[in-house]
Amino acid sequence: MSTEPIRSVKDLPQEENLFPGTAACAGCGGLLTLRHCLKMLGENVVIVNAAGCFTLLSIYPFTPFRSSWLYTAMACAPAGAQGVRDALDILLEKGKIDPEDNLKVVVLTGDGAAYDMGLSSTSGAIYRNLDFYYICYDNEAYGNTGFQESASTPFASRTKTSPAGKGSVKKDLFGIWNSHKPPYLATISPAYPVDLANKFKKAEQYKGPKLFISLIPCPPGWSTDPSHTFKLAKLAVETGFWALKESVFGEVEHTYVPERFKPVEEYLKEQGRFSHLFSPVRKEEQLGRVQEMVNEYWERFGILL
Ligand code: SF4
Repeated sequence: MSTEPIRSVKDLPQEENLFPGTAACAGCGGLLTLRHCLKMLGENVVIVNAAGCFTLLSIYPFTPFRSSWLYTAMACAPAGAQGVRDALDILLEKGKIDPEDNLKVVVLTGDGAAYDMGLSSTSGAIYRNLDFYYICYDNEAYGNTGFQESASTPFASRTKTSPAGKGSVKKDLFGIWNSHKPPYLATISPAYPVDLANKFKKAEQYKGPKLFISLIPCPPGWSTDPSHTFKLAKLAVETGFWALKESVFGEVEHTYVPERFKPVEEYLKEQGRFSHLFSPVRKEEQLGRVQEMVNEYWERFGILL
């Protein structure tokens, strides 16, 4: 792949490594993210899929992937990835496979496994400097079991297990991973495919853990129209709710800062999971708190909204 940065969507790879006709919900933002990620990763890939929504993508004998696919329980996808990487390295060392047939090992997981159950296994893999990619499609709850609260659920979001709105804040997974100082770590969005593509291009030069978290609109869980997925993913970034950033060996930089931040309300009011903040009466205190948390985040980097 050329080292020149991608400047426009017209320059994104044309090849498709994820095909349509899956069991994912209409308008799933995770599927859109995954499509762009796999365009950048190519077809020489083994996907190690932690149990979650995307377990349903491959149902024997059908698969939407051009690549190989392996399924693990929620907590242990990085351990599975270690086994696959070790097996490939042994085959390479013994000359049983040619270096050009080497495969990239890619963990694919939702936020339930990434933020909660699989965190220790991921921390271990980062610590061992496992050479792998890790993609988290973060819909901010346990989506495939009916949208129960996860550690990723943001403050005030309604879920099946927090019907009045979550009282605590979203876990900072980027910060936790970054404390390990991995070679490459980024947040991505399906609404910013050029930013996403350039992050994969940059990550490619590093051996070791390469981690990506994508905030993804989830129409059934967020109670949104499937046709609004792209608009919502964009609003999350334009309001400052989801920061696009990367880190190389622990040094964090933002890759996109909106010229003028939109009020976070514009993002919240589009989603049924936050509708209790607007009706039957506006909950000014909670709305103010969400905006305050966004402001505080950017102020830490010297950026005033
Ligand atoms: S529940 Fe949400 S994250 Fe899961 S497949 Fe459906 S839209 Fe995607």
